[in-house]
Amino acid sequence: MTEEDPVFLHPDAGAADNGSAVLGTAGSPASSSASASASSSSSVAAGQGAGASASQRARFLPPDQPVASFWSRHGETVRIAELVLAGVFILLALYFVFLWVSHVPDVSYAPDREGFREALFALAPAGADPSWRVASAPGRWRGIVIHHTAGAQGSVASLDRYHREENKWPNGLGYHFLIGNGNGMGDGEIAVGPRWEKQLDGAHVRMKGTAEGNSFSIGVALVGNFESVLPSPRQLAALRGVLRFLVEEYGISSSAIAGHGEVAERYTACPGRLLFVDEVVRSLS
Ligand SMILES: [Zn+2]
Repeated sequence: MTEEDPVFLHPDAGAADNGSAVLGTAGSPASSSASASASSSSSVAAGQGAGASASQRARFLPPDQPVASFWSRHGETVRIAELVLAGVFILLALYFVFLWVSHVPDVSYAPDREGFREALFALAPAGADPSWRVASAPGRWRGIVIHHTAGAQGSVASLDRYHREENKWPNGLGYHFLIGNGNGMGDGEIAVGPRWEKQLDGAHVRMKGTAEGNSFSIGVALVGNFESVLPSPRQLAALRGVLRFLVEEYGISSSAIAGHGEVAERYTACPGRLLFVDEVVRSLS
Protein backbone atom coordinates (compact mmCIF):
# COMPACT_ATOMS: atom_id res chain seq x y z
CA MET A 1 0.00 0.00 0.00
CA THR A 2 1.50 3.35 -1.01
CA GLU A 3 0.88 6.94 -0.20
CA GLU A 4 -0.65 7.52 -3.56
CA ASP A 5 -3.46 5.17 -2.64
CA PRO A 6 -6.45 6.86 -4.25
CA VAL A 7 -8.75 5.79 -1.45
CA PHE A 8 -7.44 8.52 0.81
CA LEU A 9 -8.32 11.20 -1.69
CA HIS A 10 -11.84 9.94 -2.03
CA PRO A 11 -14.39 12.73 -1.37
CA ASP A 12 -16.49 10.49 0.86
CA ALA A 13 -13.60 9.84 3.19
CA GLY A 14 -12.75 13.56 3.46
CA ALA A 15 -16.33 14.49 4.25
CA ALA A 16 -16.57 12.06 7.11
CA ASP A 17 -16.47 13.23 10.77
CA ASN A 18 -12.99 11.98 11.37
CA GLY A 19 -11.77 12.56 7.83
CA SER A 20 -8.65 14.23 9.18
CA ALA A 21 -7.57 10.94 10.68
CA VAL A 22 -7.96 9.33 7.31
CA LEU A 23 -5.89 12.01 5.63
CA GLY A 24 -3.30 11.83 8.39
CA THR A 25 -2.57 8.19 7.79
CA ALA A 26 -1.68 8.70 4.18
CA GLY A 27 1.65 10.25 5.10
CA SER A 28 2.02 12.36 1.95
CA PRO A 29 3.22 15.94 2.41
CA ALA A 30 -0.21 17.34 1.60
CA SER A 31 -2.08 15.09 3.98
CA SER A 32 0.56 15.54 6.73
CA SER A 33 -0.02 19.28 6.80
CA ALA A 34 -3.74 18.68 6.82
CA SER A 35 -3.43 16.43 9.84
CA ALA A 36 -1.11 18.88 11.61
CA SER A 37 -3.78 21.59 11.41
CA ALA A 38 -6.30 19.21 12.88
CA SER A 39 -5.16 19.16 16.52
CA SER A 40 -7.39 16.29 17.56
CA SER A 41 -5.65 13.86 15.26
CA SER A 42 -2.03 15.04 15.22
CA SER A 43 -0.88 12.24 17.51
CA VAL A 44 -2.64 9.72 15.31
CA ALA A 45 -0.90 11.14 12.28
CA ALA A 46 2.47 10.96 13.97
CA GLY A 47 1.92 7.35 14.94
CA GLN A 48 1.22 6.25 11.39
CA GLY A 49 4.10 5.83 8.99
CA ALA A 50 4.16 5.57 5.25
CA GLY A 51 4.05 1.81 5.49
CA ALA A 52 0.79 1.62 7.42
CA SER A 53 -1.38 -1.22 6.28
CA ALA A 54 -5.01 -1.04 5.34
CA SER A 55 -6.05 -2.84 8.50
CA GLN A 56 -4.09 -0.43 10.67
CA ARG A 57 -5.83 2.53 9.07
CA ALA A 58 -9.16 0.80 9.28
CA ARG A 59 -8.96 0.91 13.07
CA PHE A 60 -9.49 4.67 13.06
CA LEU A 61 -12.67 4.48 11.10
CA PRO A 62 -16.17 3.53 12.19
CA PRO A 63 -17.25 0.09 10.99
CA ASP A 64 -19.60 1.48 8.34
CA GLN A 65 -16.96 3.75 6.84
CA PRO A 66 -15.68 2.50 3.49
CA VAL A 67 -11.97 1.99 4.09
CA ALA A 68 -10.71 0.93 0.75
CA SER A 69 -11.98 -0.35 -2.53
CA PHE A 70 -11.82 -4.00 -3.38
CA TRP A 71 -8.67 -3.32 -5.39
CA SER A 72 -6.72 -1.59 -2.66
CA ARG A 73 -7.76 -3.98 0.08
CA HIS A 74 -6.95 -6.95 -2.12
CA GLY A 75 -3.97 -5.42 -3.85
CA GLU A 76 -1.69 -8.38 -3.26
CA THR A 77 -4.35 -10.85 -4.33
CA VAL A 78 -5.04 -8.86 -7.47
CA ARG A 79 -1.34 -8.71 -8.33
CA ILE A 80 -0.98 -12.46 -7.82
CA ALA A 81 -4.09 -13.01 -9.96
CA GLU A 82 -2.55 -10.85 -12.68
CA LEU A 83 0.66 -12.87 -12.56
CA VAL A 84 -1.29 -16.13 -12.72
CA LEU A 85 -3.30 -14.79 -15.67
CA ALA A 86 -0.12 -13.71 -17.45
CA GLY A 87 1.33 -17.17 -16.79
CA VAL A 88 -1.74 -18.81 -18.25
CA PHE A 89 -1.49 -16.63 -21.37
CA ILE A 90 2.18 -17.49 -21.80
CA LEU A 91 1.46 -21.21 -21.41
CA LEU A 92 -1.37 -20.94 -23.95
CA ALA A 93 0.91 -19.12 -26.39
CA LEU A 94 3.59 -21.80 -25.93
CA TYR A 95 0.94 -24.49 -26.48
CA PHE A 96 -0.11 -22.92 -29.80
CA VAL A 97 3.53 -22.60 -30.88
CA PHE A 98 3.97 -26.29 -30.02
CA LEU A 99 0.86 -27.19 -32.05
CA TRP A 100 2.16 -25.24 -35.03
CA VAL A 101 5.61 -26.81 -34.83
CA SER A 102 4.23 -30.31 -34.39
CA HIS A 103 2.12 -29.89 -37.55
CA VAL A 104 5.12 -29.06 -39.66
CA PRO A 105 5.51 -32.34 -41.46
CA ASP A 106 8.34 -34.72 -40.69
CA VAL A 107 10.02 -34.66 -44.07
CA SER A 108 12.58 -37.40 -44.39
CA TYR A 109 15.18 -35.84 -46.65
CA ALA A 110 13.89 -32.82 -48.56
CA PRO A 111 10.74 -30.81 -48.07
CA ASP A 112 10.46 -29.14 -51.42
CA ARG A 113 9.83 -29.60 -55.10
CA GLU A 114 13.59 -29.67 -55.72
CA GLY A 115 13.93 -32.61 -53.33
CA PHE A 116 11.04 -34.33 -55.04
CA ARG A 117 12.68 -33.90 -58.45
CA GLU A 118 15.92 -35.36 -57.11
CA ALA A 119 14.03 -38.40 -55.86
CA LEU A 120 12.04 -38.59 -59.10
CA PHE A 121 15.12 -38.79 -61.30
CA ALA A 122 17.34 -40.77 -58.93
CA LEU A 123 16.41 -44.05 -60.64
CA ALA A 124 15.31 -45.06 -64.14
CA PRO A 125 11.61 -45.86 -64.60
CA ALA A 126 10.75 -49.48 -63.86
CA GLY A 127 10.60 -51.72 -66.92
CA ALA A 128 7.22 -53.12 -67.88
CA ASP A 129 6.32 -56.48 -66.41
CA PRO A 130 4.31 -59.05 -68.44
CA SER A 131 1.74 -59.25 -65.62
CA TRP A 132 0.73 -55.64 -66.31
CA ARG A 133 -0.41 -56.45 -69.86
CA VAL A 134 -4.06 -57.46 -69.77
CA ALA A 135 -6.34 -57.48 -72.82
CA SER A 136 -8.79 -54.61 -72.76
CA ALA A 137 -11.44 -53.19 -75.07
CA PRO A 138 -10.23 -50.09 -76.98
CA GLY A 139 -11.19 -46.91 -75.15
CA ARG A 140 -11.96 -48.81 -71.94
CA TRP A 141 -9.57 -46.57 -69.99
CA ARG A 142 -9.40 -42.82 -70.52
CA GLY A 143 -7.48 -41.55 -67.52
CA ILE A 144 -5.25 -42.44 -64.59
CA VAL A 145 -5.76 -41.24 -61.01
CA ILE A 146 -2.85 -41.30 -58.57
CA HIS A 147 -3.42 -41.92 -54.86
CA HIS A 148 -1.57 -42.42 -51.63
CA THR A 149 -2.88 -44.89 -49.08
CA ALA A 150 -2.38 -42.30 -46.29
CA GLY A 151 -0.98 -45.02 -44.03
CA ALA A 152 2.71 -45.56 -43.28
CA GLN A 153 2.46 -49.24 -44.19
CA GLY A 154 0.30 -51.41 -46.39
CA SER A 155 0.13 -54.31 -48.80
CA VAL A 156 -2.33 -55.76 -51.31
CA ALA A 157 -3.51 -58.18 -48.62
CA SER A 158 -4.03 -55.56 -45.89
CA LEU A 159 -5.71 -53.00 -48.16
CA ASP A 160 -7.83 -55.65 -49.86
CA ARG A 161 -9.05 -56.78 -46.45
CA TYR A 162 -9.75 -53.18 -45.42
CA HIS A 163 -11.71 -52.38 -48.58
CA ARG A 164 -13.68 -55.61 -48.28
CA GLU A 165 -14.44 -55.48 -44.56
CA GLU A 166 -14.56 -51.78 -43.71
CA ASN A 167 -15.76 -50.30 -47.00
CA LYS A 168 -17.94 -53.36 -47.80
CA TRP A 169 -16.65 -53.58 -51.37
CA PRO A 170 -17.19 -57.13 -52.59
CA ASN A 171 -14.41 -56.77 -55.17
CA GLY A 172 -11.89 -55.74 -52.50
CA LEU A 173 -8.85 -53.59 -53.24
CA GLY A 174 -10.19 -50.48 -54.98
CA TYR A 175 -6.98 -49.61 -56.85
CA HIS A 176 -5.73 -51.33 -59.96
CA PHE A 177 -2.04 -51.01 -59.08
CA LEU A 178 -0.33 -50.66 -55.71
CA ILE A 179 3.27 -49.58 -55.18
CA GLY A 180 4.91 -50.54 -51.87
CA ASN A 181 7.16 -48.44 -49.67
CA GLY A 182 9.08 -51.16 -47.80
CA ASN A 183 6.52 -51.47 -44.99
CA GLY A 184 4.23 -54.38 -45.80
CA MET A 185 5.53 -54.64 -49.38
CA GLY A 186 8.94 -54.14 -50.93
CA ASP A 187 10.08 -50.55 -51.51
CA GLY A 188 9.04 -49.84 -55.10
CA GLU A 189 7.38 -53.25 -55.48
CA ILE A 190 4.51 -53.06 -57.97
CA ALA A 191 1.47 -55.22 -57.30
CA VAL A 192 -1.24 -55.79 -59.89
CA GLY A 193 -4.64 -55.76 -58.21
CA PRO A 194 -7.41 -58.28 -58.95
CA ARG A 195 -9.54 -55.50 -60.48
CA TRP A 196 -6.86 -54.94 -63.11
CA GLU A 197 -6.48 -58.62 -63.85
CA LYS A 198 -10.25 -58.90 -64.31
CA GLN A 199 -10.54 -55.45 -65.95
CA LEU A 200 -13.14 -54.39 -63.40
CA ASP A 201 -14.04 -50.80 -62.55
CA GLY A 202 -11.96 -49.41 -59.73
CA ALA A 203 -13.27 -48.00 -56.45
CA HIS A 204 -11.05 -44.99 -55.90
CA VAL A 205 -12.56 -41.76 -57.21
CA ARG A 206 -15.72 -39.75 -57.58
CA MET A 207 -14.96 -37.09 -60.13
CA LYS A 208 -16.16 -33.52 -60.14
CA GLY A 209 -19.18 -32.92 -62.33
CA THR A 210 -19.83 -36.56 -63.05
CA ALA A 211 -19.62 -38.12 -59.56
CA GLU A 212 -18.21 -40.95 -61.63
CA GLY A 213 -14.74 -41.79 -62.75
CA ASN A 214 -14.30 -45.35 -61.58
CA SER A 215 -15.73 -46.69 -64.83
CA PHE A 216 -13.05 -45.14 -67.03
CA SER A 217 -10.01 -44.32 -64.89
CA ILE A 218 -7.22 -46.55 -63.68
CA GLY A 219 -6.35 -46.22 -59.98
CA VAL A 220 -2.65 -46.31 -59.10
CA ALA A 221 -1.84 -46.01 -55.39
CA LEU A 222 1.43 -45.66 -53.51
CA VAL A 223 1.73 -46.86 -49.93
CA GLY A 224 2.56 -43.95 -47.65
CA ASN A 225 1.29 -40.60 -46.47
CA PHE A 226 2.79 -37.95 -48.72
CA GLU A 227 1.34 -35.15 -46.69
CA SER A 228 4.22 -35.80 -44.31
CA VAL A 229 6.94 -37.74 -46.18
CA LEU A 230 8.24 -37.81 -49.72
CA PRO A 231 7.69 -40.90 -51.83
CA SER A 232 10.89 -42.97 -52.00
CA PRO A 233 13.03 -42.92 -55.17
CA ARG A 234 12.11 -46.57 -55.77
CA GLN A 235 8.40 -45.78 -55.49
CA LEU A 236 8.77 -42.92 -57.97
CA ALA A 237 10.72 -45.10 -60.41
CA ALA A 238 7.97 -47.71 -60.13
CA LEU A 239 5.27 -45.07 -60.66
CA ARG A 240 6.98 -43.69 -63.74
CA GLY A 241 7.34 -47.20 -65.16
CA VAL A 242 3.67 -48.07 -64.63
CA LEU A 243 2.42 -44.75 -65.99
CA ARG A 244 4.65 -44.92 -69.06
CA PHE A 245 3.41 -48.44 -69.76
CA LEU A 246 -0.27 -47.54 -69.34
CA VAL A 247 0.00 -44.42 -71.51
CA GLU A 248 1.70 -46.31 -74.33
CA GLU A 249 -0.18 -49.58 -74.10
CA TYR A 250 -3.71 -48.26 -73.59
CA GLY A 251 -3.50 -45.01 -75.55
CA ILE A 252 -4.16 -42.77 -72.57
CA SER A 253 -3.13 -39.11 -72.93
CA SER A 254 -0.60 -38.03 -70.33
CA SER A 255 -2.77 -34.95 -69.82
CA ALA A 256 -5.39 -37.35 -68.42
CA ILE A 257 -3.14 -38.30 -65.48
CA ALA A 258 -4.18 -36.54 -62.28
CA GLY A 259 -3.77 -36.66 -58.54
CA HIS A 260 -6.94 -37.74 -56.74
CA GLY A 261 -7.45 -34.27 -55.20
CA GLU A 262 -7.33 -32.53 -58.59
CA VAL A 263 -10.35 -34.38 -59.93
CA ALA A 264 -12.28 -35.38 -56.82
CA GLU A 265 -15.82 -34.19 -56.29
CA ARG A 266 -15.10 -33.51 -52.61
CA TYR A 267 -11.87 -32.19 -51.11
CA THR A 268 -9.18 -34.75 -50.41
CA ALA A 269 -5.51 -34.26 -49.57
CA CYS A 270 -4.74 -37.42 -51.56
CA PRO A 271 -2.12 -38.10 -52.92
CA GLY A 272 -0.41 -35.67 -50.52
CA ARG A 273 1.25 -32.33 -51.08
CA LEU A 274 4.70 -33.96 -51.38
CA LEU A 275 3.73 -36.04 -54.38
CA PHE A 276 4.04 -33.54 -57.23
CA VAL A 277 1.92 -35.15 -59.93
CA ASP A 278 2.77 -32.47 -62.50
CA GLU A 279 6.49 -33.28 -62.10
CA VAL A 280 5.74 -36.98 -62.54
CA VAL A 281 3.73 -36.33 -65.71
CA ARG A 282 6.44 -34.06 -67.10
CA SER A 283 9.05 -36.74 -66.44
CA LEU A 284 7.23 -39.17 -68.74
CA SER A 285 7.90 -37.23 -71.92
ZN1 LIG B 1 -7.03 -41.07 -53.24
